[in-house]
Amino acid sequence: MAERYDLHCHSTASDGSLPPAAVVERASRQGVTVLALTDHDSVAGLEEASRAASACGMRLINGIELSAMYMNECVHVVGLNIDPEHAPLRRGLDEQQRLRAERAKTISDKLEKRKIFGAYQAVMQASAGGEITRSHFADFLVAGHYVSTQQEAFDRYLSKGKPGYAPTCWAGLSEATAWIVGSGGVAVLAHPLRYRLSLKWLHGMLDAFKLAGGQGVEVVTGRASDEEIRVSAQLAQKHGLYASLGSDFHTPEQPWQELGRLAELPPGLPPVWRLF
Ligand code: AMP
Ligand code: MN
Ligand code: MN
Ligand code: MN
Repeated sequence: MAERYDLHCHSTASDGSLPPAAVVERASRQGVTVLALTDHDSVAGLEEASRAASACGMRLINGIELSAMYMNECVHVVGLNIDPEHAPLRRGLDEQQRLRAERAKTISDKLEKRKIFGAYQAVMQASAGGEITRSHFADFLVAGHYVSTQQEAFDRYLSKGKPGYAPTCWAGLSEATAWIVGSGGVAVLAHPLRYRLSLKWLHGMLDAFKLAGGQGVEVVTGRASDEEIRVSAQLAQKHGLYASLGSDFHTPEQPWQELGRLAELPPGLPPVWRLF
């Protein structure tokens, strides 16, 4: 039987709405046979996901999605087949998680200056011990009718340059990549066309990423158009990177990023799972 891969998704360990076991069960129902759970700066969901995967005969790849800085931009590096116990990775995650907690307080303070109160308590409650992300703030702003959609929350409050934006100095791209590679994992640059980087800068970033040990790039992501897939495939080819694919699933309420609902990798690209 041909495998069906989905190598990027989220659970309640970060900004997903389903607990890890429910993500695995949903993926299995969607026909996925190899799933990587890749929560933002967290490996907390992997044990539960792994148990659920054994129970339904699915292969779980231990994963993560790290926030990292390239120049002054935040980019995302997915780690696949990592060892979640690897000490340097764990130390790195402790620091990333400290930054997330600190940033949550800063964003809340900034929103208060705009007379928006109660954000901190709300995101603490909603994240329930998982990592706090800007998605939690977006949900809070929607629930309080400050905006009508998550997208509007980002556009008006949470994106760079907006009143609720808190600049954060995540690990450098090379450092984050080294944590993944050092733990035995494969580092994959996530959704390359979702950053505010020109093509020229993207090429520069991929050079730096490869130099640091990065081996893959996401060519197919949940919402990608045919044109985006084509451009991403060219990036992979030009830089000699393996191609990955993942839905970036967060919640059943966003059906455009459903588990396993993915275009196939364009022919001729080496798939990242060759490295597992
Ligand atoms: P953070 O890592 O805390 O900055 O949060 C980033 C997360 O917010 C991403 O993984 C997405 O899930 C979500 N996100 C980022 N930008 C947007 C956007 N423009 N619209 C909707 N969700 C977004
Ligand atoms: Mn997210
Ligand atoms: Mn991402
Ligand atoms: Mn993601």
